[in-house]
Amino acid sequence: MLLSLENVRKSYATAEGRLEILKGIDLDLDAGESVALTGESGSGKSTLLHLAGGLDQPDAGQILSAGRNIADLDDRGRAAYRRSAVGLVFQHFNLIPSLDVAANISFHAKLAGRHDPVWERQLVERLGIDALLARYPEQLSGGQQQRVAIGRTLAARPPLVLADEPTGNLDEASADAVLGIMLSLTKSAGAALLVVTHSSRLAQMLDRTVRLSGGKIA
Ligand code: ADP
Ligand code: MG
Repeated sequence: MLLSLENVRKSYATAEGRLEILKGIDLDLDAGESVALTGESGSGKSTLLHLAGGLDQPDAGQILSAGRNIADLDDRGRAAYRRSAVGLVFQHFNLIPSLDVAANISFHAKLAGRHDPVWERQLVERLGIDALLARYPEQLSGGQQQRVAIGRTLAARPPLVLADEPTGNLDEASADAVLGIMLSLTKSAGAALLVVTHSSRLAQMLDRTVRLSGGKIA
């Protein structure tokens, strides 16, 4: 098992009191497995990804990833986990504006100690961003930035990839191509992929689909 969530609960404090978002989530991902996460807007999909990605802590429950319970890690432990054990692709791309595309792509891989120029070259070609390497993020379209952000995540060869609507800014053909690349890279690397998507067409490309509803995996 690459990722295992057990009875994970998460609430937020709001002006109207505590808002229970995740009410006991159980979810397992095997190595090499790809899973689509669906559910209505506000159902807690991003919250779940943030927890599995070590960006936030659950109120209760276990999140086993990379051989440890990341729910118990402190800030520093979670930062190390994010650096070495997980790749995150979010809707806002968070590219580093002062670095060109080539440097953005190798940034996380270098931090993780897994910089591999041959692998990065392959990624760049498959993502169709070869011609953009010397540009800066502000000189790219939304779709181009999305491809670069995906390349940056995959360059570090993370064992677990968590992607929150990663192709939302792309047209259908590009979305299919980019998801296809994420999938084949996940399979060949024995990684696991959890993708939030509203597209049943994209979900069908993955091994299975789980739906978040009423705070539970239905
Ligand atoms: P989804 O990604 O499925 O659209 P989210 O996980 O982003 O859902 O949000 C689930 C619910 O939790 C929403 O009602 C949202 O407003 C609320 N929420 C998310 N983050 C916070 C926060 N930091 N503080 C308070 N409420 C939040
Ligand atoms: Mg969301």
